[in-house]
Amino acid sequence: MSEIRPLPARASVSSPPLPRTALSTLPLILLLLFFSLTAAPLLRAQTVAQGERIAAASYPVWLFTRYLNQGRDFFSVELMTSPETGCPHEFNPRQEDLEKLSRTKNLVENGLGLEVYLDRALRVAPSDIFIIDASKGVPTLLLDSGRVKVTGDVSKKTVDPNPHIFLSPKNAALMTANIAAALTEKDPAGAEHYRDRLERFQASMETLEEEIANFKNTRRGYKVVTSHGFMDYLAAELGILIVADIEAVPEVAPSPARLQSIVQLVKSEGVSAILLEPDSDVEQAKSLGAETGVPVAVVDPATSGSADPPVDYYQQVVSSDIALLSRLLPANVKAN
Ligand SMILES: [Zn+2]
Repeated sequence: MSEIRPLPARASVSSPPLPRTALSTLPLILLLLFFSLTAAPLLRAQTVAQGERIAAASYPVWLFTRYLNQGRDFFSVELMTSPETGCPHEFNPRQEDLEKLSRTKNLVENGLGLEVYLDRALRVAPSDIFIIDASKGVPTLLLDSGRVKVTGDVSKKTVDPNPHIFLSPKNAALMTANIAAALTEKDPAGAEHYRDRLERFQASMETLEEEIANFKNTRRGYKVVTSHGFMDYLAAELGILIVADIEAVPEVAPSPARLQSIVQLVKSEGVSAILLEPDSDVEQAKSLGAETGVPVAVVDPATSGSADPPVDYYQQVVSSDIALLSRLLPANVKAN
């Protein structure tokens, strides 16, 4: 299901050579040319005034905002990070990223501290910047939810919410509703458009919810280890228990002692899979898999992709994640 609309074909008009008799119309052509040249700056000014910039602080909220804006294009939605950044825990904005922030009137963020870099980067933003926190009202899980204690765990985690709320169709629907409300506030004339796009988005989340229900109906008691807490909300919806993270702190390599502790835990807890995000240390996870005899797979949290993905890229990614997990963790109970 792709909703990319083809660009309208540009009218291709080739100018035939002027016949000699057309020379008499030359003053008229020059007059038209004069008007078209003087009108051009006015038209350009109008185009700029029409679109307001929104900087998106991370890839998932960029996808959601882009989906809502599609077809109206009142806003110019710019991604602050590089599209291949992944989780932005360690993202360090480049000069060009800061320039995006300095010239924008609006910022959409995942919130809950996912975009750590914003604390400092926001110093360059206009003082009256309009900030859309997509996490507003989204129920959260604690970072160590379900985890069994292993060597090198960070105890302060227990009070922190897990910020990876976007990888869950239920949460994505809430986040997109928050963004739609904010876009409507900034562009009231587009209220009907944003309502329509939000309804389409929510309908596509319901389709994913059906895929999740099919998974959950036929599977019980699966335990997994993840590279870090990138997929807790999807796992919770699927009924999969995450018992440990390879990394005690996201994007910080685990100590050999911690890795050994994870090996023991995979065996003692009866873990069925080791699940990584695309930019994890695959070789390290493979050796964990080899040592424990447990399969290793990559689950995509939709935190990275191309600079111009299909408008329903998020839906495609989550659907293929559910399909992958369905193959990896086979049905072990009869359907209700
Ligand atoms: Zn992360």
